Amino acid sequence: MALRLDGRQLAAELENRLRGVISGRLERAGRPPGLAVLRVGDDPASGVYVANKAKACARVGIHSLVKHLGADIAPAELLAAITELNNDPAVDGILLQLPLPAGLEEAPLLAAIDPAKDADGLHTLNLGRLLKGEPGPRSCTPAGVMALLARHGIDPAGRRAVVVGRSILVGQPMALMLQAADATVSVAHSRTLELAALTRQAEILVVAAGRPRLVGAEHVSPGAVVVDVGIHRLDGGLCGDVRFEEVEPLASAITPVPGGVGPMTVTMLLVNTVVSWWTHTEGGDPGPGSVDNPLADLLP
Ligand code: NAD
Repeated sequence: MALRLDGRQLAAELENRLRGVISGRLERAGRPPGLAVLRVGDDPASGVYVANKAKACARVGIHSLVKHLGADIAPAELLAAITELNNDPAVDGILLQLPLPAGLEEAPLLAAIDPAKDADGLHTLNLGRLLKGEPGPRSCTPAGVMALLARHGIDPAGRRAVVVGRSILVGQPMALMLQAADATVSVAHSRTLELAALTRQAEILVVAAGRPRLVGAEHVSPGAVVVDVGIHRLDGGLCGDVRFEEVEPLASAITPVPGGVGPMTVTMLLVNTVVSWWTHTEGGDPGPGSVDNPLADLLP
């Protein structure tokens, strides 16, 4: 039976660690870490995600500020709200919950977030830092995957990894992080021919295609580590991009859905926020990684 890569358990462990880091430094910092979440419009799934993030903040001692703005807000007004948060000294992280309502363009709004407060690690500057191996906030979902692998003693060095998906949110930063950890990485996407032949070469297979139950036994070599990033509501239940019941008997380790990658994504948002707070309240150089960061091992 495959080892379960249990994201809920690791998220709980890391929340304990974050609580310790925050309480140990609170007096010196003079204020708790602050995360601002901008929710625009009334997408119900976004409502659940935002509420979960606010609850996670409360559990570790991060002050969260949720701004809920109407779907008809003008881009200039939303931009002004971001600027206000950029200038707010009590805010260490800013998250713009996606997707945005039709008519609002994501790119200029994401670009307006101060890179030093980029809780999602998706700012162009921070993606560039990842590419160059410089410290900075990291994209939450792939950083969560790296933490799950590390926690279970799975070292990517020298191993053959395949990432299915090339989005800026997951696939691309995932491939960069695995490469930085010395794996030999291939990236598959919607135009890849013979997907199964490629994925069968993987010793570590990360699936982030956004296609329910795309990957089955025919895609996986015996002994592979399989990480399923996908999450879908199907027939009243949740499933991932992987046919769990087919792949689990073959794999050496596998993430469940739910309870695998999902909880880790939220935890890494907290990590990015606390690291940013640590740096902001140090009073010195505000650059990422400029002061001894107690969570550096979690930012691949
Ligand atoms: P996306 O739609 O932006 O990207 C999907 C990628 O998969 C694309 O690069 C596309 O080329 C590739 N792809 C699509 N069909 C394919 C196929 N048949 N074969 C090979 N490649 C294919 O999606 P995303 O934002 O990267 O998210 C991927 C999945 O992960 C979604 O199900 C999303 O809900 C989930 N997700 C989960 C979390 C989490 O915390 N668990 C976080 C982010 C995303």
